[in-house]
Amino acid sequence: MPDSNPTTTATDESADATEPPASGTNRAEITVETDPREERVEEPLLEIRNLQLEFETHEGTVHALNGVDLDVYPGEIVGLVGETGCGKSVTARSVLGILDDNANILGGEITYRGTDLLTLSEAERRELRGDQIAMIFQEPMKSLNPAFTIEDQLTTVIERHTDRDSSAARARALELLEDLGLPDPEDVLESYPHELSGGMAQRVLIALALSCEPDLILADEPTTALDVTIQAQILDLLVDLQEKYDTSVLIITHNLGVIDRVTSRVNVMYAGSVVESGPTGRVFETPLHPYTQGLVEAIPMPGRDELSGIDGEVPDLDDPPAGCRYEPRCPVSEEHCKTYDPPMTVVSDPETPERREVRCIHYEPDQPGDPGVVLDE
Ligand code: SF4
Repeated sequence: MPDSNPTTTATDESADATEPPASGTNRAEITVETDPREERVEEPLLEIRNLQLEFETHEGTVHALNGVDLDVYPGEIVGLVGETGCGKSVTARSVLGILDDNANILGGEITYRGTDLLTLSEAERRELRGDQIAMIFQEPMKSLNPAFTIEDQLTTVIERHTDRDSSAARARALELLEDLGLPDPEDVLESYPHELSGGMAQRVLIALALSCEPDLILADEPTTALDVTIQAQILDLLVDLQEKYDTSVLIITHNLGVIDRVTSRVNVMYAGSVVESGPTGRVFETPLHPYTQGLVEAIPMPGRDELSGIDGEVPDLDDPPAGCRYEPRCPVSEEHCKTYDPPMTVVSDPETPERREVRCIHYEPDQPGDPGVVLDE
């Protein structure tokens, strides 16, 4: 991992200016002296490090992103999950450079293929959009231009971003619509958006995102507006297309079922920070952060009589807690959490070679050289 990574490992001596408390409740779980974690050898396609962003509004300053860390590796589907308003979409828009005028990025890096996107000009960012990074928005009807046919919209993008002429662009558009499982692609090409169902429009949006053969697709709640059956079809289609085109996908959702269905890794976001990340199966089986534990306990399961839910409210981001932003709702908070905001810490999990990280004092090393928390085998 590059040196710019602000996350701490068990041997990182410069974790934060504020020292964590001497011990955490999970210290008894330390079972080995060495860290069995294996680093991924490949470089991330996208690396977000310590991204901080605020919005100036009439009501005051909204501290929307509080040091977001996130990686997307080549050819993977990775999830970003959290409640509405936690900063998921703002994170994606920061990558694309399509933030509202009142947004200020205060610090951090968004590195794509080794280039910090925050240092690029608007023209360079525009070039990247569509060519290499595409976005699928959550409301397809609002994303398609009602005044143009699907053929116009698809072929315009294909001609702009590839070297195809108009007839090759039309052939490519047809091919994409067939890939998307649309039964009569010729008909769809001649249609205007209002003539399509929600499910068809969402498939067209995915075709638009794929039309330039991007390396990375940011899919923001791509199935939220659809009924459950169509949602499942679209999600399965996304997985098939990701494999066919070897595209990386960052899927953004509030729905743990979507994460479970399609992602291999997940990032859990709360109030402007990623608070836990790791392989999806392991995070769902052994959630570490108290917020993730609350989310997982709230999933309806056979044999579970009632939903636990999470007590309390998401904090107001124009006046967030001074320390850990989850402290007002956390069932295992300590006095120190009111003033101390922990960084991400690597946690060793013998059940997986994949990296697991969590942002909570209970998983921080007590002292330099301490292996940190190691989960029981
Ligand atoms: S308040 Fe935050 S840092 Fe403290 S125990 Fe809870 S989640 Fe961890």
